[in-house]
Amino acid sequence: MKKVGFIGLGIMGKPMAKNLLKAGYELVVYDINQEAVKEVVAAGAKSAPTSKDVAAQSEVVITMLPNSPHVKAAVLGENGVLEGAKPGLVLVDMSSIAPLASQEIAAAVAKKGVEMLDAPVSGGEPKAIDGSLSIMVGGTKELFDRCTELLSKMGKSVVLCGDIGAGYTTKLANQIIVALNIAAVSEAFVLATKAGVNPELVFNAIRGGLAGSTVMEAKAPMIMAGNFKPGFKIDLHIKDLANAIETGHDVGVPLPLTASVMEILQALKVDGKGQNDHSGIALYYEKLAKVEARKK
Ligand code: NAD
Repeated sequence: MKKVGFIGLGIMGKPMAKNLLKAGYELVVYDINQEAVKEVVAAGAKSAPTSKDVAAQSEVVITMLPNSPHVKAAVLGENGVLEGAKPGLVLVDMSSIAPLASQEIAAAVAKKGVEMLDAPVSGGEPKAIDGSLSIMVGGTKELFDRCTELLSKMGKSVVLCGDIGAGYTTKLANQIIVALNIAAVSEAFVLATKAGVNPELVFNAIRGGLAGSTVMEAKAPMIMAGNFKPGFKIDLHIKDLANAIETGHDVGVPLPLTASVMEILQALKVDGKGQNDHSGIALYYEKLAKVEARKK
């Protein structure tokens, strides 16, 4: 599969598409944002005027869009992938959406002979740029095996987690752990700062111990620099926790800590910070405590 369509060239999709170009794939791309399209075309891709045209020229189409409604619109909507798809096309949705939505999309595209994997990612923009994302996949083993080489050009870990929807379920688990971890780092760093200890010294003292984490390594420096440029937007994390809470309610799993952090994110959104990086959770604690956990 050398002819790849790529729809959704945002913070994540742009570097992922560029890595496929570097690996020698022929790319046809589409995004509603023309600036993003121009940048990837300058790196060697062809552009198409609609998702339908992307599908008509591709053996596999990757979508990297914000949420379920965007993926449904791009795949099942007017001028969408399904209208341009030939039987045998493979659809790999790498966005983070609700597991139920992916099952609905997979069932709808199957009627036209299109096979689908859900393959959401973790690692954020830096790992999208260096091609070392963690990719969690749902779908059949046979299709997974056919797509592994392609996926490995964007990620260093590619794991089949189960049937269609299992990739998203795994991603929801990932997003709970990330959100709660950022909240814990924020709460702790604000406490230490207000109690009179330089947060940078706290970071250096504890990062190698049990409290250390990939989240702390990525987000504590942003908090200490007061840099909340995304990265991963608070609005997108609200979407993921909403999907997690809905899934939890569906399957009968209460998520009390997730619900608490969800309300912190909602407060930040109301405060106009929805487009900030999710390390901005620290701003909620800083406002309550009237202190900023910045490097001295
Ligand atoms: P983004 O908002 O930067 O990019 C989304 C892109 O989709 C934009 O360029 C937008 O113009 C385009 N788009 C929206 N609707 C469209 C449509 N109908 N047709 C074509 N293009 C359309 O988002 P992102 O940060 O790149 O995230 C994409 C997905 O990856 C989300 O589901 C997110 O949760 C997930 N994700 C993001 C990160 C991160 O750190 N940013 C990490 C892991 C996973």
